[in-house]
Amino acid sequence: MEECIFCKIIKGEIPSKKLYEDEHVLAFLDIHPESPGHTLIIPKEHHKDMFLIPENELTNIMKSAKVMMNRLEEKLHPDGFRLVQNNGIVQEVKHFHLHIIPVYQEKEEKTVEEIYEIIKK
Ligand code: 5GP
Ligand code: ZN
Repeated sequence: MEECIFCKIIKGEIPSKKLYEDEHVLAFLDIHPESPGHTLIIPKEHHKDMFLIPENELTNIMKSAKVMMNRLEEKLHPDGFRLVQNNGIVQEVKHFHLHIIPVYQEKEEKTVEEIYEIIKK
């Protein structure tokens, strides 16, 4: 998958603000966040979308979603979370990704850099 931007992020060819990594998945901050702490979780193997990703990879994604939600909860204290996964015409990047989007009652004004300093270990 030469042209896939998320495969390039996994290989380190494009920089990203990494938050969690194991042999199966990578979690990093979204470059254009809907809210502070907006995180993307991707499988290290390239699978396009929900139709094509194997079940065991989904399990890996959801396990790390729990890890990331706990970390975001602890560091940012949001009032809720949305988990979003787009397919078809609403999917911009054709490498499966789960969005973890913290929700705040009061609007938080922080840059991705400021948020990264708070969340990274
Ligand atoms: P989709 O609509 O495919 O579900 O969302 C793709 C997401 O990937 C968008 O929220 C977009 O901001 C994010 N994104 C696209 N390119 C990059 C990138 O190079 N780095 C990071 N960190 N996020 C990206
Ligand atoms: Zn890819």
